Amino acid sequence: AAKTAGRNTLRFFDPAMQAVVTSRAIMEKELRESLRNEQLQLYYQAQVNHDGELIGVEALARWQHPQRGMIPPAEFIPLAESTGLILPLGYWVLQTACKQLVSWARQEQRAHLTIAVNVSARQFRQTDVVEQVLAIIHQTGANPHLLKLELTESLLVDDVEDIIRKMELLKAAGLCFSLDDFGTGYSSLTYLKRLPLDQLKIDQSFVRDVLSDPNDAAIARTIVALSQSMGLSVIAEGVESAEQRDYLASQGCYAYQGYYFGRPMPIADFEAAHLPQFA
Ligand code: C2E
Ligand code: MG
Ligand code: MG
Ligand code: MG
Repeated sequence: AAKTAGRNTLRFFDPAMQAVVTSRAIMEKELRESLRNEQLQLYYQAQVNHDGELIGVEALARWQHPQRGMIPPAEFIPLAESTGLILPLGYWVLQTACKQLVSWARQEQRAHLTIAVNVSARQFRQTDVVEQVLAIIHQTGANPHLLKLELTESLLVDDVEDIIRKMELLKAAGLCFSLDDFGTGYSSLTYLKRLPLDQLKIDQSFVRDVLSDPNDAAIARTIVALSQSMGLSVIAEGVESAEQRDYLASQGCYAYQGYYFGRPMPIADFEAAHLPQFA
């Protein structure tokens, strides 16, 4: 034990470790500033139906760092979570998405599009999260029926009664809920059954090898069957080929998101890439 403690103590003075600690502190400071300096951007990725028609988008946060370029969410979202910056960041994401809904509401051909927003467990755990979301909707004038909140199974370690109560309040206001990365977390089916969800989202890790790995195919099939028996819709993420789309469709999944249909893009690029189809 003494040896382990000694090692741990020494580890702190390891220059490499020290560098990690320092860069984390710098990153935190820079992320805080990025919220003020408009270095955060929302990218939009298409969600399509079986006919390839655009039905909505997922909004994905991007951090355009002035020196280090684009920092992926896999790096800054965990940092934002651990520092609490996820709260102002999450507020900004929701506000930006709602403003986008308002802008699309004025364009007849895009007025029906939904926007899915990722809401982290820490954000949804806030006692005033319902009031915050409703305030943003009220202030922006967005149609709540077009706003979808993506939650993850990590939320289910919390007080599930409280989660359900918040979800019910937001659903009463018109919002809907999707369970993101489904199948990768620890959620028990008992909890799943009780959550007032609208949609399950098949994680991309099962979609990737769905054509070559029988286990992934079985999981994807099972999620589709589960969604059907629970009366939920289902969408697959990470669809990169027509063959994956066709397999998923053969199993009853008719909504898709992935590079095959379009990468996440800044709003101007998104609108140019997904022009409304004129009948
Ligand atoms: P997610 O919500 O599961 O988002 C899907 C991720 O898959 C996105 O990564 C997207 O760019 C990527 N993706 C989409 N289609 C494909 C595909 O065909 N192939 C592959 N290989 N990947 C694809 P991204 O944008 O890097 O985001 C990573 C994660 O960061 C998100 O996973 C989400 O958990 C989190 N995140 C992003 N934006 C936000 C946000 O505003 N708030 C919160 N709380 N989390 C966010
Ligand atoms: Mg998501
Ligand atoms: Mg996902
Ligand atoms: Mg994912």
